[in-house]
Amino acid sequence: MRSVSSTETKKAKELCFLCGEADSYQTGITGIKVDGRSYDILFCKKCKIGRTDPFLDEKKIKGIYSSAVYRDDDSTRFFSPVEKILTLFRTGRRKRVERYSSAGRILDIGCGRADFLALMAARGWLATGLELDKRVLNQGKGSKGIDLRIGGLEDVKFPEAHFNVITFWHVFEHLRNPLWALKECSRILKQGGLLVVAVPNARSFQARIAGGRWFHLDPPYHLYHYSDDNLRRLLENAGFDVVSVNHLSFEFNPYGCLQSFFNLCGFRPNLFYDFMRSRVSGVKRLNLYASLGIMFLLMPVALPASLIFSLIEAAMRSGGTIEAYAIKKPE
Ligand SMILES: [Zn+2]
Repeated sequence: MRSVSSTETKKAKELCFLCGEADSYQTGITGIKVDGRSYDILFCKKCKIGRTDPFLDEKKIKGIYSSAVYRDDDSTRFFSPVEKILTLFRTGRRKRVERYSSAGRILDIGCGRADFLALMAARGWLATGLELDKRVLNQGKGSKGIDLRIGGLEDVKFPEAHFNVITFWHVFEHLRNPLWALKECSRILKQGGLLVVAVPNARSFQARIAGGRWFHLDPPYHLYHYSDDNLRRLLENAGFDVVSVNHLSFEFNPYGCLQSFFNLCGFRPNLFYDFMRSRVSGVKRLNLYASLGIMFLLMPVALPASLIFSLIEAAMRSGGTIEAYAIKKPE
């Protein structure tokens, strides 16, 4: 892959790192406004992988995830009923992992408060977590028996063939060098070890309908934008056999529909999400309550419609987010 930092200043004509297509990343969704800056999502014309432009450099990435700017910052909890639902979702993740692997060593990359790893450790897994955000990691420090480390995969040199399972729960799309990360995962996974990669699906129905207002697009934090086909191709290039790609996620897909629908209605983007996380700022009170009032009135229709839409998307293999399960191939 050529230097990506050059795209900070200009749309460089370059080969696609995944399929090798020349002059890729020239067209896509343009002019997405976030915090006063404008971003484009440009797609490879051949393999359809998307890339955010401008592309964040390494220094900026590390700064953002340890600052209050990042809206997915895990240090604030949701309201308590929402937290209960989140526990259910984490249990679902545990069950899906255990479908493919018996207990052993697990590494969760971008582990946040390590709530998922705490569940795994309670089931006898030897859990290790990597997290860039120190504030978040400190909250997970109380979790007994979990080896928590600050940093990314490039900061820690794990031994070869060490883990039975490695998971990326909605973290992989934030990586600057995904192919390198997968090859490093292959190095530190045992033979036959399991890799789980959950990412938004840029070719989903909700993504195609909502365009630049799609909730899961999230520039500038999401650097690459994947789909079922190109994620499979990437995993296979890095030495994995993809055993399944799941398109049905109750954790992410109905909410992606609902929030994208509100964004399309013209409300301030992701206002409802920010309100749920108690993180609304820069909106006049009257405006906020009026917007929320209309959203709650729309809810009896919008919520079931989002659920049904997610089921249809999943049945058509076009889910809003996808979860790939892949096994390390014999060398
Ligand atoms: Zn390509």
